Amino acid sequence: MARVRVLVVEDEEAMAVGLEYALVREGYEVAVARDGAAALEALRKSAPDLVLLDVMLPRRSGFDVLAQLRRDGREVPVILLTAKNQEVDKLHGFDLGADDYVTKPFSLVELLARVRARLRRRASDAADVPEELVLGPARVDLRAMRVQLGTRTEELSLREVDMLKLLWRERGRPVSRERFLDEVWGHESFPTTRTVDQHVVKLRQKLEADPSNPVHLLTAFGVGYRLEP
Ligand code: CA
Repeated sequence: MARVRVLVVEDEEAMAVGLEYALVREGYEVAVARDGAAALEALRKSAPDLVLLDVMLPRRSGFDVLAQLRRDGREVPVILLTAKNQEVDKLHGFDLGADDYVTKPFSLVELLARVRARLRRRASDAADVPEELVLGPARVDLRAMRVQLGTRTEELSLREVDMLKLLWRERGRPVSRERFLDEVWGHESFPTTRTVDQHVVKLRQKLEADPSNPVHLLTAFGVGYRLEP
């Protein structure tokens, strides 16, 4: 089996070397890019399984790199590395499609655990969820991140795709708001259960023929939501 590839994007020498060493020791194949432009170049040439992306980079910022990556339709998991006191940046990072966030200084043990968790989730995603979901008249293309409903086509955000994958894996069973936060939003605790509700409203507008009377993305009262294909 091919080794799992991790791209480390970090300009600080000591940090880059330390991360590379730790990841190689874990058995990953590691490439290192020292600035944003080099990162985009590396991403054009190869398809890593995960990206560790520093936000504060010379030439192109980590946010620039992330935005470009998602504009190109790349779904590779991205864990952002940032300095303390960048709460606002954190939100911005998730909006741009980051999967997780680690604040410097971080413990290597914790970082490696998050890398493993992210890769595991990616593996189980790929195993269990088909690329196309059929929900009544709606056809959901998870790969293209698009919903076709009658003549209408709607784009899905990365977050919405992740919510649908989780709902699909648990189809017929309720998924709690807390579980959405844990599995879709990651370890960061700033989003509230209200965030989940807001995303469900948007998803219903895209998936349901009559969003105010949903028949597929249902409310599980007192718990969360349930998908009925
Ligand atoms: Ca930096």
